[in-house]
Amino acid sequence: MSAPAPTPARPIDVNYLGQPQQICCWRVDDHTIVDPGPSVSLDPIREALAGTSLKRILVTHIHLDHSGGVGVLLRDHPDAEVWVGARGARHLISPERLVASAEQVYGGADNLAALFGEIASVPEDRVRIVGDGEAIDEFIVAETPGHAKHHVSFLNTLTGDAYVGDTASVRLPGHQFVLPMTTPPDTDRVAWNRSLDVIEEWRPTRLMLTHFGAYDDVALHIARTREGLKHFGDLAAILDADTWGRTLEAAVGAATGHAQVKGYGTTMDAATLWQGLQIERERIAAAAGDA
Ligand SMILES: [Zn+2]
Repeated sequence: MSAPAPTPARPIDVNYLGQPQQICCWRVDDHTIVDPGPSVSLDPIREALAGTSLKRILVTHIHLDHSGGVGVLLRDHPDAEVWVGARGARHLISPERLVASAEQVYGGADNLAALFGEIASVPEDRVRIVGDGEAIDEFIVAETPGHAKHHVSFLNTLTGDAYVGDTASVRLPGHQFVLPMTTPPDTDRVAWNRSLDVIEEWRPTRLMLTHFGAYDDVALHIARTREGLKHFGDLAAILDADTWGRTLEAAVGAATGHAQVKGYGTTMDAATLWQGLQIERERIAAAAGDA
């Protein structure tokens, strides 16, 4: 007799700040979720998980829209361990530096609290550090830097679903348009393309995005991510923030009908994405100067 087919992963739309299709927490099975999002929007997760006890919370990266709420959620799930890459783990255990830099990005502590809520530290004994290439239970882990240095992705070998966080960009259901999140300060398009190679080599059946949903046209979606990184990344070298932002938003609008980048699966604005690409340019220039 063959093993029973695994239950398909289910999306939990956390309805972030009252907005549907912004942040998707993936419920892999009754005991496992990926990226719960921030603590301001944990209620839909609590409802979905009522009566069950989590054992595994997988974290792709420690940006607050993915894992800001992990410490708070853990209080409801005393048996859960948090899987995170080594570079991200220290920020979950001691979030002070992460919070300080997020306060700068988001314009102060009050704004940060309104956007993300409480950011509680994760006790060290609840953290399981996962490494590149590691196989744990039904998952394979890969380091997938590019959007964030410390980003990891998880392949579920039972289902073929790849939990790729923001490595495979942002895309909303019903649309083809793929929007790479070139967020400060880590955006690195060379590393990003290598990470996309790794994900492609997994030959996943679906890409499970946080923003937002599952997509089975894997090759096309990844090709569009690469094109977006190249096209909008190269344009950022020659256009100022306003012009670049208008160009990006015209493309988003033509493809999706969304007038702004903000709202197409993200709370980022175009100026921030431009900024991420400038920091990348400065880093490349500084490295060339050092050589
Ligand atoms: Zn994100």
